[in-house]
Amino acid sequence: MVRKGNEVHVACPCCKNRRLFDADPSTTEGIIKIKCPMCKGVIAVSFHLKQIRTEQIATQ
Ligand SMILES: [Zn+2]
Repeated sequence: MVRKGNEVHVACPCCKNRRLFDADPSTTEGIIKIKCPMCKGVIAVSFHLKQIRTEQIATQ
């Protein structure tokens, strides 16, 4: 079940893309890897205890 209202916009740490994707840190746990469509960087977004951490893990 997806609960609306707590979603945050996860920004890319490498470029000005302020909305890589939306996620709810209160219901998401683990690591999501996503490729930024703007800078082409691969970003690892880790959710842990309602904290969000982003880091670039690879470049092409
Ligand atoms: Zn980017």
